[in-house]
Amino acid sequence: MNLSPSTRTHSQAAGGARILRAKDILRSALAPSRVAGRSIGLVPTMGSLHEGHLSLLRAAREECDVVVMSLFVNPAQFGPGEDLDRYPRDEVRDAQLAAEAGVDLVYAPPVEEVYPDGFETQVEVRGLTEVLDGDPARRGPGHFRGVTTVVAKLLNAVQPDVAFFGQKDAQQLAVIRRMVRDLDFPVRVEGLPTVREPDGLALSSRNAYLGPEDRERALALSRALRTVDSGAREGSLAAGIEAARRELEAAGVEPEYLEARDPDDLAPVAELNGRPILVAVAARVGGARLIDSVLIHPAPTET
Ligand code: AMP
Repeated sequence: MNLSPSTRTHSQAAGGARILRAKDILRSALAPSRVAGRSIGLVPTMGSLHEGHLSLLRAAREECDVVVMSLFVNPAQFGPGEDLDRYPRDEVRDAQLAAEAGVDLVYAPPVEEVYPDGFETQVEVRGLTEVLDGDPARRGPGHFRGVTTVVAKLLNAVQPDVAFFGQKDAQQLAVIRRMVRDLDFPVRVEGLPTVREPDGLALSSRNAYLGPEDRERALALSRALRTVDSGAREGSLAAGIEAARRELEAAGVEPEYLEARDPDDLAPVAELNGRPILVAVAARVGGARLIDSVLIHPAPTET
């Protein structure tokens, strides 16, 4: 990558990717590439990287000339009493893994860079943010307001051609797609499949909160989603969801929700309708609040 002299104001973990802290320096670092017409990919993360994040970084590396990973634990998307303070952080390791995955620049701003004194603007997507995790009895719409506000800022700071997100956070993906569409952000949003442990557990930074017994119980989430998937394959989404509820109950996991929704507008779906269906689940397991989801694709019709 062709870098301008002003980009020397950066820190670099030993062997890790270059870390930039300020958006003006980031912009100068990217300017030559932009002028040269190179494509820029952005992968927003809160760090504590695992294979799920790495799959997004590798996809970005494959598709784009320049890869930027943002690393920012965004206080605005954590509610009072949530895990902001104990959220796992290890910037040196993250910069190392990012470099190995081919990331060119890590944008890791301090909180004051993102939310300076007098910050008063928020980006809000209505409707989609009021269900599932956005239900006021759960994380609430404020969580997604925090997400959309920071993602809008990251898109403005980096101005990528493509931004990569995980299907794991299916509601977040739907909300970001809607924001990008409604506000005409000139970026393509790419959603990538959930990476799982061999036993089915969806990788998540929050899995670090699980002790061995809770980790075992947490498997009930992905098992329940597989049960819905087979129910749907056998012809009944509702029966699949019923069976999955019993499965969660047997494992002693009480879901905050287990629901079938349209993956784009998140409208409830009662039965198979020939279109992809999102089935999403959330539950508290021990010290972790976990979410998982699956996309059920319609069976190919015989011709
Ligand atoms: P986070 O650091 O949790 O904010 O996640 C950063 C990005 O990684 C988001 O787009 C997530 O959806 C994505 N992600 C998290 N876990 C996984 C996973 N298991 N598989 C694929 N993508 C993931």
